[in-house]
Amino acid sequence: MKKIASFSVNHDLLEKGVYISRIDGDVVTYDIRMKIPNGGDYLSNGAMHTFEHLFATYVRNTDYSDSIIYVGPMGCRTGFYFLVRDNISHEEVITLLVNSFTFIASFSGEIPGSKREECGNYLEHDLVGARQTAEDMLNVLKDWSLEKMEYKS
Ligand SMILES: [Zn+2]
Repeated sequence: MKKIASFSVNHDLLEKGVYISRIDGDVVTYDIRMKIPNGGDYLSNGAMHTFEHLFATYVRNTDYSDSIIYVGPMGCRTGFYFLVRDNISHEEVITLLVNSFTFIASFSGEIPGSKREECGNYLEHDLVGARQTAEDMLNVLKDWSLEKMEYKS
């Protein structure tokens, strides 16, 4: 089988940030890298899970809702994939992510979709961990720019 594009990225050069992973027609896949690959520190399942609920809820409640295709964690627990239609510019995506992470960083109360009948593992949530991850990524993104969205090779 051929090696898929996302495995061809040199993960040893990847730092925390937001990258354009691939573009397929009008669908743009962003690589939101929250941990350094193979760095020994990974998102916990609970934090990642709660982050997913809050991130998806937030972006699907913005004016961009119709352009959001998918939000989900990477199996390696070092980040998220974010798929949107290309009617949102890369710069708008950075702003949307900053707004999303600001929302998550200060979220309190009941995690959306975390009732037993709404979720596949409703006991495995970690709001404190999700908030810390959002805070950390806000630091990373505070001076993020279009130029930085391209993978280094
Ligand atoms: Zn869930």
